[in-house]
Amino acid sequence: MAENHLFIDCPACGTANRVRVDRLDVTAKCGRCRAALTGKPLYSKAPVDVAAVEFDPLVRRSSVPILVDFWAVWCAPCRQQAPILEQLANDLAGRIIIAKVDADQAGLLASRFAVQAIPTLVLLRSGLEVDRITGLTSAQVLLQRIERYL
Ligand SMILES: [Zn+2]
Repeated sequence: MAENHLFIDCPACGTANRVRVDRLDVTAKCGRCRAALTGKPLYSKAPVDVAAVEFDPLVRRSSVPILVDFWAVWCAPCRQQAPILEQLANDLAGRIIIAKVDADQAGLLASRFAVQAIPTLVLLRSGLEVDRITGLTSAQVLLQRIERYL
């Protein structure tokens, strides 16, 4: 299942802080010791649901590549792609963030990336597209394509 939060480890006390995607722009402090979490890496062991307004803050904030999954509720291959991405998010936690974007709800974002078919997987590094894969893709092929960017 996709989540609506990521984690940031506190540099002072080591606590894993849950940070909601829609609050990424807010200056975060550790829930336990109040140390600043600004600039510390985000990570997640699960794909993260990202709404259109949350997309740019996440891209700005992430120090690791982001694999954006443009999907839709009615898309059968997207449903098959989902568990593959869940596994990948778990295996590559801390090295990549997998962001799920509902192409129907975030139409402008899908247009911005010229998404013609779904699922489309767009790999961003430092905010720039470095690779793109369209259609249902196996874990093995996905890994081969993204490995060099991790
Ligand atoms: Zn702390």
